[in-house]
Amino acid sequence: MTTLVWLQRELRTQHHPALASALARARRNRSKVIVAYFHDPAQIIGSANSAWLAQALPQLQQDLRERGGDLWLIEGDFATQLQNLIEQHAIQELFYTYQPGSPFDAMQRQAESVCRRTRTALTPFETENWLPYARLHNQSHKPYKVYTPFFKSLQSRFDELEPLDSPAPEDFAFCLPAPKGLDQRPGSLETILAQPWTQNILRHWQVGETAAWRQWQAFQEQGLPHYSDQRDFPAIHGTSGLSAALHFGHLHSRALLFALLESQKRQGTNKPQQNASQQVWMSQLAWREFARSILWHFPESEHQAFQPKFEGFYPRLETLSDADHKNYQAWCQGQTGVPLIDAGMRQLWQTGWMHNRVRMVAASWLTKNAHIHWLDGAAWFADTLVDADPANNTMGWQWVAGSGVDASPYYRLFNPIRQSERFDPQGDYIARWVPELASLPSKQRLAPPTDQPDLLQTALDYPPPRMDLVASRQQHLHRVEQLKQKKPIA
Ligand SMILES: Cc1cc2nc3c(=O)[nH]c(=O)nc-3n(C[C@H](O)[C@H](O)[C@H](O)COP(=O)(O)OP(=O)(O)OC[C@H]3O[C@@H](n4cnc5c(N)ncnc54)[C@H](O)[C@@H]3O)c2cc1C
Repeated sequence: MTTLVWLQRELRTQHHPALASALARARRNRSKVIVAYFHDPAQIIGSANSAWLAQALPQLQQDLRERGGDLWLIEGDFATQLQNLIEQHAIQELFYTYQPGSPFDAMQRQAESVCRRTRTALTPFETENWLPYARLHNQSHKPYKVYTPFFKSLQSRFDELEPLDSPAPEDFAFCLPAPKGLDQRPGSLETILAQPWTQNILRHWQVGETAAWRQWQAFQEQGLPHYSDQRDFPAIHGTSGLSAALHFGHLHSRALLFALLESQKRQGTNKPQQNASQQVWMSQLAWREFARSILWHFPESEHQAFQPKFEGFYPRLETLSDADHKNYQAWCQGQTGVPLIDAGMRQLWQTGWMHNRVRMVAASWLTKNAHIHWLDGAAWFADTLVDADPANNTMGWQWVAGSGVDASPYYRLFNPIRQSERFDPQGDYIARWVPELASLPSKQRLAPPTDQPDLLQTALDYPPPRMDLVASRQQHLHRVEQLKQKKPIA
């Protein structure tokens, strides 16, 4: 008998309930396990995310081989390849770990129908969160739509957290080695990796489980104690930078939660500042749980406004004028003429990551000032972020656009100049990513003088602001007033 463990975004060897169960079963039954990743080029998240994947898969294969196991790498149409594998290797059961959002939902449905056709037992593991989604509801048995009660409820139930199994080292011997042809990085990932842009992005990252644990260790010791004070300042490395490692499942977020709870227990009340910082970080990690639970309960929110009245409020790019297209292009390229936003968009292009505060400010400009649909912004992020994640990206964009659960109020537009005064007062972040402004005095870096076009365009080669922030804010507020009164939207 052979069990297939199909991996999606649980690319690790430890804390892996599906893998541990399959291997433990194999030991009991003297059966075999195939661990496989299916790469379907038609079902990817985006380019930067795929580049990370291209490095992560051989890395995991190596990690599994060092433990006596292996990883099969299979490329092509998912349903066809899965059926072939099941038939060729007489697979009787398939274990996988549920993941919310695109492309996972579609692939999971395809796996269900292949298993039905081939009469293969299918066991989904709903183990990637702190608690199973179906148990995350309020007293009226409705899903939480507001973060604070969601987090409070989670916190009150920490004693229900299931410990995470790690496969026993000797169990990896029950893995079948990958045959020739299925032991190499898929060709289309090879192609993505060969592009200069993705190569450049990956220079900024250490990919894989071992590197992720090292990064967590360093953050726990050096960054975490100051997290609550530093996390909002993009020029400082004040956050963990673990979002891609969490997205790819190199680390299980519950394992990090256990580490935090353990550390809090050890410290008691001795280090209140450190405890406060840990608490803030834990609550950020819980936003990820919230985002995933929202997508589980409301899968349509990945493509539709969560609040129906916002449906149709923002126009899609394809319906817009040339001027709007130019605004969108300028935003993607970090050429809006708003230094903080341009710094963020260039950080994104060069590293595949952007600081959370700048993500909010950049998304606010595109949706509320430029009046372009959040889905168009989310699509650019999905293509260029290494941590691009259907749950977190949707939550972030709908929150900023005002159409999501527990969303930012409609009247709140981030003022990018005020935001840089508060969070990048010396313009260090701006100077790092928009070097043409580095020679200006700090204050002018945040808002270069617009009454000296020669200085801006000729001497510095930096564009004037594409958008009048005050007028576009007024227009947004006017549109929202109409929405509130249910008048047709101009
Ligand atoms: C418009 C927009 C789009 C976003 N798109 C993504 C995305 O595609 N993928 C993604 O992982 N995050 C996304 N975020 C959330 C957040 O910006 C990143 O998780 C964070 O910047 C990652 O950096 P870090 O790992 O250093 O975070 P830390 O501050 O160290 O936080 C630790 C972890 O908590 C989780 N987390 C933190 N903040 C949030 C949040 N607001 N929502 C959900 N989870 C959070 C992440 O997994 C993060 O790695 C988006 C935010 C916005 C405003």
